[in-house]
Amino acid sequence: MVNIQTDGAFRATEVISDLRNVAELMFNPLRLVGFWDEQAGGMHLCPQEQLGRECLHNLPPDDPRRVDYADTASGQMRAVLEVSFPHAGVYLYLR
Ligand SMILES: [Zn+2]
Repeated sequence: MVNIQTDGAFRATEVISDLRNVAELMFNPLRLVGFWDEQAGGMHLCPQEQLGRECLHNLPPDDPRRVDYADTASGQMRAVLEVSFPHAGVYLYLR
């Protein structure tokens, strides 16, 4: 988990591409393979949708077909590290 503390007038970035740069610098040579953005309503890089299949990650929590994105990231996408940015509600998955 990466908590970014800021003082005064500065506001930590919440832009995915900036957070990606931070994470890839910190954990070089790992590279981003996926992300989940809570503040954007669960926007994410979806391997199912890339294959033209139905996304199962944003189904309601009580839907038995729902798949946790973290499980897809660590399984299908073979991510080895989850980096969360609580101030931005963003989770990045690196491999
Ligand atoms: Zn999805």
